[in-house]
Amino acid sequence: MNYKRSSALFAESEKVIPGGVNSPVRAFKGVGGTPIFVKGAKGAYLYDEDDNRLIDYINSWGPMILGHAFEPVVNAVVEKAKKGTSFGMPTEIETQIAQLAVSMVPNIDKIRFVNSGTEACMSAVRLARGFTGKDKIIKFAGCYHGHSDSFLIQAGSGASTFGTPNSPGVTQGTAKDTLLARYNDLENVSELIEANKNEIACIIIEPVAGNMGCIPPKEGFLQGLRDLCDTNNILLVFDEVMTGFRLAKGGAQALFNINADIVCFGKVIGGGLPVGAFAARNEIMNHLAPLGPVYQAGTLSGNPLAMAAGLAMLTELNTDPDIFKRLAEKTAYLHEGIARVLKENNVVHTINRVGSMISVHFDEGNVVDFETAAKGNNESFKKFFHGLLNEGVYIAPSAFETWFITDALSYEDLDFTILAVNTVAKTLN
Ligand code: PMP
Repeated sequence: MNYKRSSALFAESEKVIPGGVNSPVRAFKGVGGTPIFVKGAKGAYLYDEDDNRLIDYINSWGPMILGHAFEPVVNAVVEKAKKGTSFGMPTEIETQIAQLAVSMVPNIDKIRFVNSGTEACMSAVRLARGFTGKDKIIKFAGCYHGHSDSFLIQAGSGASTFGTPNSPGVTQGTAKDTLLARYNDLENVSELIEANKNEIACIIIEPVAGNMGCIPPKEGFLQGLRDLCDTNNILLVFDEVMTGFRLAKGGAQALFNINADIVCFGKVIGGGLPVGAFAARNEIMNHLAPLGPVYQAGTLSGNPLAMAAGLAMLTELNTDPDIFKRLAEKTAYLHEGIARVLKENNVVHTINRVGSMISVHFDEGNVVDFETAAKGNNESFKKFFHGLLNEGVYIAPSAFETWFITDALSYEDLDFTILAVNTVAKTLN
């Protein structure tokens, strides 16, 4: 494929934007080469500036669960925009999307909308600290909760791709309040709690990790965390920025039948516009300003265009009875197909999948935490990424990311992808 115009555009963007991108993983640093500039997208396909068509498995890193330019979302945004794009005053649509979200997600009474997943997680932790009167938090190595200071300690996603899981600029003072645990290791969490008795405000976790590739929670792990939180007066925060409105109507809480105390959202809830949210029971949410003393605010929070996109998206997910089953079936089909051709070509691999999240690791051991995720063969991954791109299949340019399956993908698209993997697999050994 030809990427001449993308390369020229990247050369221009590098002069005025750090690294040429507004979010690091877009830069292809982990895999080498020049990022692709997109001109537009429809359904399962991206169209780039060189007029290549790519099957998209990133989907804006998760939000486009029904495919690109989904008409009810686009129409809702266009109609809203005609009436003004921001007021900084309450609007009815904020209540409508809040009512719908509260009805879909278990165990939440109130929800506050913000502008990104980062803001949602940052605010959730402040609320947990304000509510419990304690300072420390436990996070898991390889989990990513956005780029706010407390979370850039062994963070996954781009932070791992670039080898900077601990960012300069995060003070020692902040870092000391973030305790690190191993994903899927209850014993380790228990030890941390013992060593920091009555000091831990919350445990924050991706209930299915998606920022070190896709890593499912082991049987009993989330329940174990719930029990540890209950006995030690610690809040359990589910970062459902990836899993919310993706794994089930009620997200991971519903899929695994575990109640969290605070839930964070992003991605799907905004239908592709900048939206995040955090939610909890009344007793916790009532601590938030203006009802309570924990401060949190935003000029553009609850923005009418963002709310219109989110409401159209959630309405569709709420009314289609088969959507999550269909997504999981498509993902299982892709899983089986890829596993088959990689095996036929003797490529050492492990595939992890939950619902419509899936990732391919080039290592044969079980991938259960950051340590095992980091063992994957990155040279194979680079070849795999560029090989697929050459075949017209676009996956995340890093092994520390998950693929997001959308309902717009047809079985023909999945077969095309499996065939592409077969072609690329021949170059991997
Ligand atoms: N939490 C999780 C689980 C995420 O995957 C992400 C982003 N990939 C974030 C938080 C941060 O969201 P945002 O990029 O919208 O700030």
